Amino acid sequence: MFFSALFALTIAFPRPGLQIPYVEKCYLSGAVDRGVTNILVQGKDVSVYRTGGWVTMVDLKEGKNTIKIDAGYLTTNYVISVAKKPAPSAAPNNKKPEYKKLPYTDDFPRALVAPDDPNGRIVVIDPGHGGPKDLGALSPHGYGEKDANLALSRDTRDFLTKLGYNVIMTRDSDIALNLHERPRVSCTNKNVIAFISIHHNAPNYNVDPRKVRYASVYAWNDIGSVLATNISEKMTIALKDDIPNKGVYKANFAVTRNPEVASCLVEADFITTPEGEEAIWDPKRRKRIAKAIVDGLDKWYKGEWSDWRESNPRPQH
Ligand SMILES: [Zn+2]
Repeated sequence: MFFSALFALTIAFPRPGLQIPYVEKCYLSGAVDRGVTNILVQGKDVSVYRTGGWVTMVDLKEGKNTIKIDAGYLTTNYVISVAKKPAPSAAPNNKKPEYKKLPYTDDFPRALVAPDDPNGRIVVIDPGHGGPKDLGALSPHGYGEKDANLALSRDTRDFLTKLGYNVIMTRDSDIALNLHERPRVSCTNKNVIAFISIHHNAPNYNVDPRKVRYASVYAWNDIGSVLATNISEKMTIALKDDIPNKGVYKANFAVTRNPEVASCLVEADFITTPEGEEAIWDPKRRKRIAKAIVDGLDKWYKGEWSDWRESNPRPQH
């Protein structure tokens, strides 16, 4: 996910004097584990969870937090400065958020679909995050979610291509993309039938990252939810005896709200637990998840899509 990564500090490549916004808890993770890693926060021992790397959840307070990591032969001291707690505003902010940059408003030119077009059946695959600044969530060893997203996206593309779909990747390398530009191609290319954003999850900053792992799919409108449900059903089968699949959630994201092209966002696993990190880099398992995404999409395309398209032709711009 996008938000909690802000609070994920990796100690693998620490920045001295790190200053972060006000948070009550944060998780620390690192690869400095010789079986003897001890962590002291404000002079107090903190329990550390280990599988390969280590992860821990620590309470932070305003101002300077001293953290000492003792890895046997190597002792490192850190100071994390947490900003002051913002004063509660006088009037509660009940205003609904405004979504100005909708991919289906006049932001992008739109095109009529032609279902019998031989170049039709394009699926857009959108590997989340990317570039030097947007790593997404961080694994215990400090790997960015962006790389896991790209790996799963490439496998998904390969399975789609095998089934005869055309695929456009919003990125096929480690580049930064504007979030609101990502859905552009599904508005401007008349042959796009679906848009799937691929991510790996992280818990909210106040949830212990050692304990949470599941898969989920997010969609906003009806057609996106139908696509998401088909994908989610296949993921449940693919992840049996592995991790739970929590199903489909409604979420108004920049990449899910396009009403003209079925769009959804897959969170394949949690990258923030040591077990999740290890599993995500298993190529066999990754292919199994990619295949589930593709099978779900294929079932949807051969099932609900044409009925929906008939009653919802893309408007001519
Ligand atoms: Zn993400």
